[in-house]
Amino acid sequence: MSAETLQFKTELKQILDIIIHSLYSHKDIFLRELISNASDAIDTLRFQSLTKPELLEGRSEWKIKIIADEQNKTLTISDDGIGMSKATIVENLGTIARSGTRAFLDALKKSDAQTRPALIGQFGVGFYSAFMVADRVTVRSRLAGDPTSAGVQWESDGKGEFSVTDIDKATRGTDVVLHLHDEDLEFLKSWKIREIVKKYSDFVEHPIVIDVDKEDESKNKTTVEETLNSRKAIWLRPKAEVTKEEHAEFYKHLSHDSDEPARIIHFSVEGAVEFKALLYLPAHKPFEMLFGGDTRKGLQLYIQRVFIMDDCEALLPLYLRFVKGVVDSPDLPLNVSRELLQQSAPLSKIKSNLVNYVLKNLEDMKRDQYDAYVSFYQELGVFLKEGIHQDWSNREKIADLLLYESTRTESGQFTTFAKYLLAMPETQKEIYYLIGENREMLEHSPYLESFKAQGTEVLLLTDPVDEFVVQSLTEYKGKKLKAVDKGSLDSAMDEDKKKDFQPLLDYLKEKLTEVKEARLSNRLKDSAVCLVADEWGMGAHMERLLQRMGRGKELPPSQRALEINPDHPAIQALRDLVQRDRTDARLEVYARLLYDQAVIAEGSKVKDPVAFAQRINDLVVKDARI
Ligand code: ADP
Repeated sequence: MSAETLQFKTELKQILDIIIHSLYSHKDIFLRELISNASDAIDTLRFQSLTKPELLEGRSEWKIKIIADEQNKTLTISDDGIGMSKATIVENLGTIARSGTRAFLDALKKSDAQTRPALIGQFGVGFYSAFMVADRVTVRSRLAGDPTSAGVQWESDGKGEFSVTDIDKATRGTDVVLHLHDEDLEFLKSWKIREIVKKYSDFVEHPIVIDVDKEDESKNKTTVEETLNSRKAIWLRPKAEVTKEEHAEFYKHLSHDSDEPARIIHFSVEGAVEFKALLYLPAHKPFEMLFGGDTRKGLQLYIQRVFIMDDCEALLPLYLRFVKGVVDSPDLPLNVSRELLQQSAPLSKIKSNLVNYVLKNLEDMKRDQYDAYVSFYQELGVFLKEGIHQDWSNREKIADLLLYESTRTESGQFTTFAKYLLAMPETQKEIYYLIGENREMLEHSPYLESFKAQGTEVLLLTDPVDEFVVQSLTEYKGKKLKAVDKGSLDSAMDEDKKKDFQPLLDYLKEKLTEVKEARLSNRLKDSAVCLVADEWGMGAHMERLLQRMGRGKELPPSQRALEINPDHPAIQALRDLVQRDRTDARLEVYARLLYDQAVIAEGSKVKDPVAFAQRINDLVVKDARI
């Protein structure tokens, strides 16, 4: 039969090289990857056969068989799963099916020997890890459901080309034949195979078997199949029985994360809807989220041990997409489409239960393992913040999970809304916060001056998404969240003072056309001026964020109020000057200087730095001459 020779896609060649050369210390994962593919193929067939029983070709047993052939130096991983047609084999094994190829290459460049193995699984290049131990790989496959259809053979040395040939294959499914390197022949030893299967694939649901020779009493040799994996769906086992190591392996299998999970949530629910769940909270941001290909959301769904789908989005809200795990429920209909299933009522019941458990576990973790919680939060807290906006009904529970620095915490230490409330005096009505780029900048902000002087705590928010948190949350336990750089502060201003400064205020309003209003400030102590947005207007930080995102053009011209500090000597001198001679040419220069220093103090850039410098220099010249 004629063989066709085809080229690997270029990126794939690069990836092959990287995989083969960089994963050397983790060679044995090739078997895990191939077993996992075989198991997926069986799951797919089993799922499709629910509606198309003819696919089974009269045989509804499955297994993954590993055949070591010492003579030919080959190791074969054989499955009776769905199989591949000629077209799909070229598509699946000659290109990288997922669109993340580029992302994968970029990620690889940033990774090191430690993080690389995790990447390999993550981006779906598992099959190619076979070339770590083999100088040639032959795949024989036939699609399930049509015993008369021809099979296909794919073969490659992993160097850039592969060939495909039509073949006859009697049974459905796929055989992956590895022609092992001479230095990798230990993978033919049954002890080695046993060891790897136990280590990585023990919980695989389908039997993984090898042939072993047995002698009966009369010394007759027979060959029997031995199942190597215990096949226990660990989520169905009693919680206390599952060991830490088993969890670690299972978590690795689900997440491809090389670290241990930060928390294990294993529970079952009985009642209206029954289900068992085994969830893991990762200790750090999953790879796919780091490199932009944020495609994997949701959990694995099983119905009575039958695998239904990966990434079942209907099981968890989007903001909890970092949670990995499995849900198994007998109450879901087995033979409906995945799309319909995702909309079923029991599924949404399960979802709200899962959310409660996850949030409750986070709260427990925060209380009982604070340090672990803090490091979890620093990696993944940003997702929880999305929840404030997405999950209205759990808003307060999520707010309780947020950690913030404040004017009363050391740098790097946190308080919470609940603690803030406990510590605040009864007379205080609002929860004060200030948003900015970093703590250092916030600490020097003029907006904090009066709060510092009065000893009032202000939360310091430094995460870009905090803007959205405060916009969605707006209050906590009945107390309004109040930005200290917006709106007016509720302390009365002396009427005489107001009168005294009115001419200066009028002058500033008239000359500084970019301000909406000029008024006396009760938030300043050491500074002379600051700019203040309306209660509902856009703050300076948000403007800078949008500018950095390249959306500066969409911004309305900012219309902030200029507040002046009546107790400041510079302001008092100007008040006197305006009263003496409103037409004094110097006044205009001073007004500009006041405005520019307010712009700098809020952390923004002055529009015309050259003119600003010029004004300062003119003053220096005058002052130095005296
Ligand atoms: P991944 O499994 O992460 O998608 P792989 O490179 O391991 O990536 O496999 C690529 C694709 O090849 C799989 O998604 C699957 O469609 C197909 N494939 C691999 N092994 C088998 C198999 N044993 N049976 C059927 N299809 C397979």
